[in-house]
Amino acid sequence: MPEVDAFTRPYWDAAAEGRLLLRRCRAEGCGAAHHYPREFCPYCWSEEVGWEPAGGRATLYTWSVVHRNDLPPFGDRVPYVAAVVDLAEGPRMMTEIVDCPEAELRIGMPLLVRFRRAGAAVGGGAGGAVGGLAVPVFRPA
Ligand SMILES: [Zn+2]
Repeated sequence: MPEVDAFTRPYWDAAAEGRLLLRRCRAEGCGAAHHYPREFCPYCWSEEVGWEPAGGRATLYTWSVVHRNDLPPFGDRVPYVAAVVDLAEGPRMMTEIVDCPEAELRIGMPLLVRFRRAGAAVGGGAGGAVGGLAVPVFRPA
């Protein structure tokens, strides 16, 4: 399970409400968005970085179907699709693809975020996971 600290608390609070947050640099001449959340901008090292909501849209960059993972809770979940996606805002993100048969996965396919809590994916956006820890996963748009 992810570890929540004072810095990442806003991210996990938003995820529990079904919202994906990004970090965006506010330094003049930069303005780059990044993920995972860091306290400084990984492009210009500025600490003028703030949270902003992501639209939740992404495209599939690459994936791997995991058939074996002895680490809980993944052992009960195989096979699953570990993936890297490109968020519409630019950052590349490690995640998991859900609700998509392996044969239908395609590089560049459009995806939408949803949130998984307590081992099961629950709807993102309206009526998303409320309370507890939720992690962003993606499904076909
Ligand atoms: Zn920057």
